[in-house]
Amino acid sequence: LIENNARHMWHPMAHPAEMQANPPHIVQAAKGVEVTDVEGKTLLDAVGGLWNVNLGYSCEPVKQAIRDQLDALPYYSTFRGTSTDTAIELSYELAEWFKTDGLTRAFFTSGGSDSVETALRLARQYHKINGQPERTKFVALKKGYHGTHFGGASVNGNANFRRNYEPLLPGVFHLAAPYSYRNPFNTTDPAEIAQAIARQFEDEIAFQGADTIAAMIMEPVLGSGGVIVPHETFMPLMRAICDRHGILLIADEVITAFGRTGAWTGSRGWGVKPDLMCTAKAITNGYFPFGAVMIAEKVAAVFEGSKGAVGSIGHGYTYSGHPVGAAAALATLKETNRLNVAANAAARGAELLAGLEDLKAKHELVGDVRGRGLMCALELVSDRKTKAGAAKDTVQKVFDTAYAEGVMIRTSGYNVIISPPLVITADDVSRIVSALDAGLTAAGG
Ligand code: PMP
Repeated sequence: LIENNARHMWHPMAHPAEMQANPPHIVQAAKGVEVTDVEGKTLLDAVGGLWNVNLGYSCEPVKQAIRDQLDALPYYSTFRGTSTDTAIELSYELAEWFKTDGLTRAFFTSGGSDSVETALRLARQYHKINGQPERTKFVALKKGYHGTHFGGASVNGNANFRRNYEPLLPGVFHLAAPYSYRNPFNTTDPAEIAQAIARQFEDEIAFQGADTIAAMIMEPVLGSGGVIVPHETFMPLMRAICDRHGILLIADEVITAFGRTGAWTGSRGWGVKPDLMCTAKAITNGYFPFGAVMIAEKVAAVFEGSKGAVGSIGHGYTYSGHPVGAAAALATLKETNRLNVAANAAARGAELLAGLEDLKAKHELVGDVRGRGLMCALELVSDRKTKAGAAKDTVQKVFDTAYAEGVMIRTSGYNVIISPPLVITADDVSRIVSALDAGLTAAGG
């Protein structure tokens, strides 16, 4: 497996040579909140797959729904005017789920990148139908992650996901990240940073012309950029500016939509109603590639009132509303609700954050601790004064030691990201914190 992995499998985020020099751990089974590798070692999965397996790996109702749907109707298209009972039922349940956020229509996709692409396209189309075809530009945040399609890469706020693919979409501009630990504003006060970015947004709007901007896209809590939790005023400020200038607000909730932050959606946690919301990942508990863009009444009304004014919608996927994915999502929603995982994410998240703060007090290596619900991060530094990021070997040592201790973590640059299933117990939280403690000790900090 190790040889063929290096020879034949092109890994998304790793250089082929890296796979030869440093072969990955290979996972072959999972149960509850644990995964087992091919050596037979069992680990608590503190990554939750990839922030998506919110209900753990043994969620029988979701597995059974997938089996039943395969028997009843393994595939049919919703692309060309046909529909399926399962996809329709899911759109109804999602409208119920998201009505508090003002979102009542679902556009089905095959994952997060598709959801972002869909939202960007719908935003431009909305303005075209609405008589403002010149509104084509997008605003995003540095450190934001929005998937890998060209639209998503264009709004991505991390050079690694952009540089090799340029030229990207024209007319995209990025505001600073609401990042207290490192920012260009010479302050660590999150409320001041929120105000500073709001001023940057207004300034950029004045420069670009409000009537050229289609939408702003943001994650309510920035995930892959290192779990950056903005001040509570930040998203409401962005919403207010968008409203003032007729700009749509797209919430990229691919990570945050189903309880991960301790609120049912990240936007709701900040008291904001977005115009479009991108979801994917936990919508099927990670068991099937699937996503949905949720659409506000205001946006839907423009499309529905257009009577085909700009031709057809012209956007969709072969797998939009895939019945097996839709069945998985229906069962996932039901379990997510029944287990009230948002409440557990809030309670366990507070314990985890307190544990991580203790690690910061103990280990010089920890420069910053961040988190909301069960999305948390440690930022590792080689020097607390200069905030120079920890060396690659140091970060690897933390990972390897935690692994040996039986906990799978995720490292990304000099960040350690913790995003376990939302059904973890207080004991699981202790296991994660003590494995990190051992890792930080072994790494010499
Ligand atoms: N948006 C956000 C906020 C994400 O975290 C991700 C994936 N990590 C995506 C979009 C892209 O999703 P996918 O990998 O399913 O295409």
